[in-house]
Amino acid sequence: MTSPDSRSAREAVVSAMRQMIALGLSQGTSGNVSVRTQDGFLVTPSGIPAEELRPEHVVPMDMAGGHDHPLTPSSEWRFHRDILASRPEVGAVVHAHPAYCTAFAICGREIPAVHYMIAAAGGPSIRCAPYAPYGTEALSRAALAALEGRSACLLANHGMIAIGPDLAKALWLAVEVETLCRQYALALRIGTPVVLDDDEIARTVERFKTYGPRKAED
Ligand code: 13P
Ligand code: ZN
Repeated sequence: MTSPDSRSAREAVVSAMRQMIALGLSQGTSGNVSVRTQDGFLVTPSGIPAEELRPEHVVPMDMAGGHDHPLTPSSEWRFHRDILASRPEVGAVVHAHPAYCTAFAICGREIPAVHYMIAAAGGPSIRCAPYAPYGTEALSRAALAALEGRSACLLANHGMIAIGPDLAKALWLAVEVETLCRQYALALRIGTPVVLDDDEIARTVERFKTYGPRKAED
């Protein structure tokens, strides 16, 4: 069996950081990524631009927040650790400062159910966690509360978090949430957005469980 903090897991973390830049979700040293391992997690180092990031820079941490890597782990390791510790179904956490998510977060506004795709984030709203300084326990507590029953949230005056069973799904969700925020921002300029009711979103959450191509044995 491949070790969970094997080269391929580290490469996946680096690739996710590069994809965040390519997808327009991130720039510079903004954002960070983690993946669960057997006895802890791998997290991006602090302050290294994605284009300079190499697999050996990725920091393995234990669930107590300890590590013995020469580089400093992401300043947001606490919320990565706290999300992975409290949500056993989560295998990866993605954090970024994409423009439309962050614009709503600057206004402290949650995203209502203006598109059925909000169900991909688990419910009828994407909450906005109240402001707390980056890298703090207070930010981690606020993020955990905003993520309750959800797989994405905004962080006031900061950015967003998306989580998923693996890195690919967390990254996919981050793109969907940014797209939703862009659509909502455009709709607000055109007219009065219509908000779908909670029952419709609950039904969509259910339907998403069987969305997409089926394997022959299904
Ligand atoms: P790090 O480089 O320490 O991960 O910080 C980036 C960031 O987005 C802080 O919120
Ligand atoms: Zn940040």
